Amino acid sequence: MEADLVLLDCNVLTMNPSQPHAEALAIKGDRIVKVGTKEEISKWIGKSTKIIELKNGETIVPGLIDTHVHIADFGRFLTWLDLKGVKSIEEMQKIIEKRAQETPLGKWILGQGWDQTSFTEKRYPNIQDLDETSLDHPIVLYHQSGCMCVVNSKALELAGVTKETDAPSGGTIEHDPETGEPTGVFRENAMNLIWKIIPEPGEEEVLDATSLACEKIVEAGVTSVHWIVSSWIEVQTILRLRAENRLPLRVYIIFPADILDQITALRSREDFEDYRVWIGGVEIFADGFLAARTASLKEPYSDNLDTKGKLRYTQEEINVLVAKLHKANFRLVIHAMGDQAIDIVLCTLEKILKELPRENHRYRIEHAAVLNNELIQCIKKLDVTVAVQPCTIISEFTDWSATDRLGLKRARWLYPLKTLFDEGIRVSGGSDCPMEQLSPFAGIQAAVTRQFFPEEQITVDEALRMYTVNAAYASFNEDITGSIEEGKLADLTVVSRDPRITPPNEIEDIKVKMTIVGGKMVYQK
Ligand SMILES: [Zn+2]
Repeated sequence: MEADLVLLDCNVLTMNPSQPHAEALAIKGDRIVKVGTKEEISKWIGKSTKIIELKNGETIVPGLIDTHVHIADFGRFLTWLDLKGVKSIEEMQKIIEKRAQETPLGKWILGQGWDQTSFTEKRYPNIQDLDETSLDHPIVLYHQSGCMCVVNSKALELAGVTKETDAPSGGTIEHDPETGEPTGVFRENAMNLIWKIIPEPGEEEVLDATSLACEKIVEAGVTSVHWIVSSWIEVQTILRLRAENRLPLRVYIIFPADILDQITALRSREDFEDYRVWIGGVEIFADGFLAARTASLKEPYSDNLDTKGKLRYTQEEINVLVAKLHKANFRLVIHAMGDQAIDIVLCTLEKILKELPRENHRYRIEHAAVLNNELIQCIKKLDVTVAVQPCTIISEFTDWSATDRLGLKRARWLYPLKTLFDEGIRVSGGSDCPMEQLSPFAGIQAAVTRQFFPEEQITVDEALRMYTVNAAYASFNEDITGSIEEGKLADLTVVSRDPRITPPNEIEDIKVKMTIVGGKMVYQK
């Protein structure tokens, strides 16, 4: 038989334990038909076979899978001004002025990524700085941490904020100490005053933005995503992209419980699920986020003894909900960050698995941030998959001061990846983009080199498993993706260097050379 595509002279990391290495691959249609030596693969070359010869240590890994991406938000952010790396307020003003000239009057100008510590002026930007660029467009610019923004007078006026406006609890509206007027800076919950008046993008805008996001994602070497959708409109966007042939990657949809009825109707349409789009899991939230002190802890937050965070359900309520979804044969993805939330989720799962057959259910806890040995043993016993976003580990410790927030003893058990791997628990990897950058190699580097509690560093091989075999398992399709094996889908990521022999602090600089999905080149540098 003749292959459609062969790749020769490769360093192939298959992630298949029975054949960990190979030097060449043959692909026919959307499948890998042979993995082996150059000599073996040469036999597959015919008149119409396309041949790609790699060089200089270029390495092939299984198509990478990101198990946590908010693609609509990512797409929306891509249309915003990117202010990362801007060196002064003056430079920022020039960027806004340029955008203002291209933007119809009255339309919003949105941006993100500024950081006052990089500004030569060494101060926060304010309402006057922004007013100098435009009084006719409402402008809002988000800080790189996402927990602060600055606006101009037009935005302030549309939000109806005056010097008398009270900030909502958990937020601050900054005022000039002399005049009492707002400085334009809004922090934390006060940012909602602005966010809620920014018009939602229209259907076409969402379609174009998500399509652009998908292109960026395949450029990062990702061949499948677990797309966290927030609305039915977003599901329809995915279906439209598929119908219009604008989905370069595979999508496993994770959807909120409030669109269950629409999803049920969709699921009943036989022709819907294919190797391109799957109805994945329904996500329910047991608690909130550590960064906002809404993750539910057993003991109070160490930096605010008045709060233990918040559970979104009682034990009884979550038992009923999970049983209902289990019986309806929905796959469950349960967001739980705090030890109290993880505990009640595990209690629920233990009860369900005693009372109902497991059938083909695989339970998955999203984040599972604050653990302890008892919880880890329970996760292991119940065979629960844990979905972690390694770049957030670094952000929790740096941007959100996890050690102060949790105290040393609990912080030790924040994302204990090494312990989870040693216990044989399946951990999958994701980005949580756009909160974090979309780059599996940045995630691998974060997991391998973490400086906070370095005893929980994992090996490159383990980190790679998070984005390949373990992620495939978390999407219930390890029989067709996640490793390079004969018969599996030809989803491949070709990179500039072998991550296992790259110095750990250079892993995130590994370049993606090609991304192949189902035997088709969807990105080539
Ligand atoms: Zn997320």
